[in-house]
Amino acid sequence: MVKFLDLQKINLQHQEEIENRLLTTFRSGWYLFGTEVKQFEKNLSIYIGAKHAIGVANGLDALRLIFKAYIELGVLQKGDEVIVPANTYIASILAITDNDLIPVLVEPDSDSYNIDITKIENKITPKTKAILIVHLYGQVVFCKALQTLAIKHNLKIVEDNAQAIGAAWNGVKTGNLGNAAGFSFYPGKNLGALGDAGAITTNNDALAATIRAIANYGSEEKYINKYQGLNSRLDELQAGVLNVKLPHLDNENQKRREIATYYNRHINNPNVILPVVPKNETEHVWHLYVIRTKHRDALQQYLTKNGVQTLIHYPIPPHKQAAYKNWNNLSLPITEQIHNEVLSLPISPVLTNDEIKTIVRILNNFEI
Ligand SMILES: *Cc1c(COP(=O)(O)O)cnc(C)c1O
Repeated sequence: MVKFLDLQKINLQHQEEIENRLLTTFRSGWYLFGTEVKQFEKNLSIYIGAKHAIGVANGLDALRLIFKAYIELGVLQKGDEVIVPANTYIASILAITDNDLIPVLVEPDSDSYNIDITKIENKITPKTKAILIVHLYGQVVFCKALQTLAIKHNLKIVEDNAQAIGAAWNGVKTGNLGNAAGFSFYPGKNLGALGDAGAITTNNDALAATIRAIANYGSEEKYINKYQGLNSRLDELQAGVLNVKLPHLDNENQKRREIATYYNRHINNPNVILPVVPKNETEHVWHLYVIRTKHRDALQQYLTKNGVQTLIHYPIPPHKQAAYKNWNNLSLPITEQIHNEVLSLPISPVLTNDEIKTIVRILNNFEI
């Protein structure tokens, strides 16, 4: 069987280094706010090119904390509107509603699956204060037009970079394109920890300081609480693992690109729509390789029967979830079509050439 993502194999590539690192922390007796976290924050800020990197507990917290800090700083106010793609993982939306901000859902572009930039402007009202862009599946969603729009309407750009670490636009890394960015190091992400972990990057000193305080019980000084904060820490063990894996990220992303190129060249089943290859100025990191077909469920069953594990990202759009009942009647046809038709093929730095060829052969033999 070809696994969708073999995390054991991915992490065992660095077995000795990771085990040594974990053992060192274990024996040190120091588990929070230590040298590993400090080192990782430095490594990440250098890698992304942003002035500040702040380790936090997970990707959702990273996004929540950015909005929470903007509210504390008076940049955003409860009830303000935030533009967000309708086609995203629920975490992007939760980070907005958790702060009593109002998500304004915008349809995606059906080629890139990312927010349709041309549909943003007529959703902007006097209450719109920010855009949360999501580099979905590892593909950059950023361009001059978006930048111009944000400046024209005085909107903050927040990046959900959970799926796109290492991607770039005109040589600038995602996570350094907007005003602040949230990262997830969930084990299955391109840079994965051995549990939950996340981070925020920004070039804004005040925002960084406020986020740091809020993530630490709202405190800058022990037992002095400036904000009603929360507890969201990256721990030393996870930071140690990330310090080992970050230097290998570019290589692993390159492997993903090679697999995507192979798929794009060799998958020729007429029932299948392939992902659109990105424009020259963007560097895609292929967190997911997502195809589209009218016969999604039949194809998935066929692939499972033939030993190829696939997943659906995502089966139900946020506006159709019980969690957002008052949106259930919204009509977002492109989002709904995407959710009905997408299927993610295995793509990971540890897939073998044989496995890649097998997947293509089996997929090309699918008949309806
Ligand atoms: C994974 C993910 C998140 C949340 O990350 P966690 O670490 O699981 O909290 C947020 N947004 C997107 C797009 C994601 O894929």
